[in-house]
Amino acid sequence: MDFDTNCIFCKIANKVIPSTIIYEDEDVLAFLDVNPVTYGHTLVIPKKHYESFLSCPKDVLHKAFDLAQRIGQVQIKQLGAKGVNILTNCFEAAGQSIPHFHIHVIPRYEANDGFKLEMKELKNVNLPVLAAELKESLNK
Ligand code: 5GP
Ligand code: ZN
Repeated sequence: MDFDTNCIFCKIANKVIPSTIIYEDEDVLAFLDVNPVTYGHTLVIPKKHYESFLSCPKDVLHKAFDLAQRIGQVQIKQLGAKGVNILTNCFEAAGQSIPHFHIHVIPRYEANDGFKLEMKELKNVNLPVLAAELKESLNK
């Protein structure tokens, strides 16, 4: 399915609803997040509908991440960002609210500038057992 009539990002990609576009070509589009967490927070999407990063074809992924890289470079050069977070949430449990693959490109200015990714340590994990389980599936 290229276009999902219920999808807000499909509507943005097809100009059915407006957005503040900063780059577009045949395959990908970059526009400013309507609720930015920092100054310059940008979203990169494929124009076709893929639910998340996990189901996006590799050639499209390449184009989307290439554009995200260029935007990150411009945020540093043009906006004076000191760093950039690249984030893509897959599914609701991971915080995805719009089920059309998108990459957040979040320019960072300082530690307390509006965005925080908290990583709490998970205790008592048997790493060799876990690794064996993952390796088995990965190498099938
Ligand atoms: P998610 O939580 O799915 O990873 O991120 C969705 C992002 O899309 C949020 O940061 C939210 O602010 C942004 N967003 C939701 N609706 C719109 C919209 O209509 N226009 C724009 N420009 N951004 C949107
Ligand atoms: Zn869509």
